[in-house]
Amino acid sequence: MRRITVPTVQAGHAIGVDLGGTKILAGVVARDGTVVRRHERPCPQDSQEHVLAELEAAVTELLDESVGSVGFGAPSPIDQARGVVVRCVNLPLENAPLRDRMRERFGLPVGLENDANAAAIGEWRAGAGRGVDDLVMLTLGTGVGGGVVSGGRPFRGRNGEGAEFGHVVIVHDGRPCQGACTGRGHLEAYVSGSAASAAARERFGPSADAHRLVRLANERDADAKELLTEIAGYLGSAIGSFLNIFAPRLVVLGGGFGVAAFDYLRGPAEEVAQREALEPMRNEVRLAKAELGTAAGLIGAAFVGFEALDAA
Ligand SMILES: [Zn+2]
Repeated sequence: MRRITVPTVQAGHAIGVDLGGTKILAGVVARDGTVVRRHERPCPQDSQEHVLAELEAAVTELLDESVGSVGFGAPSPIDQARGVVVRCVNLPLENAPLRDRMRERFGLPVGLENDANAAAIGEWRAGAGRGVDDLVMLTLGTGVGGGVVSGGRPFRGRNGEGAEFGHVVIVHDGRPCQGACTGRGHLEAYVSGSAASAAARERFGPSADAHRLVRLANERDADAKELLTEIAGYLGSAIGSFLNIFAPRLVVLGGGFGVAAFDYLRGPAEEVAQREALEPMRNEVRLAKAELGTAAGLIGAAFVGFEALDAA
């Protein structure tokens, strides 16, 4: 392995790379969370080697002397001890030794994180959660992802696998979950954008989806508002449990559906969460809308890069 050169003067920037199902989003990020430069390229679907080569190409595109480290967010559980992407559901990456490979390739400290955790770290450092050292983030998109910052530290579980909030049970023996998940009654089956689209189709016909549902609510459609309140109730049940477990000061709601429907979800979800949470956690409950949009993952990944640099 090539020796890692740690600059004597702390480098000002880190490259953050957010690996998604179809796109690689990368950026040069300053310590205050400002994105200085961006790069985007499609993510190949054919082989692990091709994905790794494109990740290297994204970093190469942005690399300059101001960059002291690199961080990656991947849609997979992460083995932090070995620096390995364990298995992506939607990409051909399995048991991929991303950290060692990128360290050797670029000679810089490299951090690795689950993509939802990276988004939570991004919002904590530079978005809706700035200055709040205890927060829970939920991303409602195609699936439901989540991340926790507790006592000013990202929560990663035993070895980086936590926290998969989309797959906590909120209804015993409830709706079947999505994709490869064999569970039932999981949060993802009730509050994800896909679940909202399915509910919208049932109510408004085959051409409806989550976008149309929110648009109808904006046009004051009573059925649409009722359906969003119902979804918010399930979300509130889950948030109530997360309050009891993590006692956060803030719950940040992100993801395409979470942000678009935020104004309809917040009130009823807070009400239900308050009912389920105990004193004093219930008094603290506050939902905030994510601020960084699709950049949350790459900004968070860059902070994971800074973390690797500071630990080197
Ligand atoms: Zn599930």
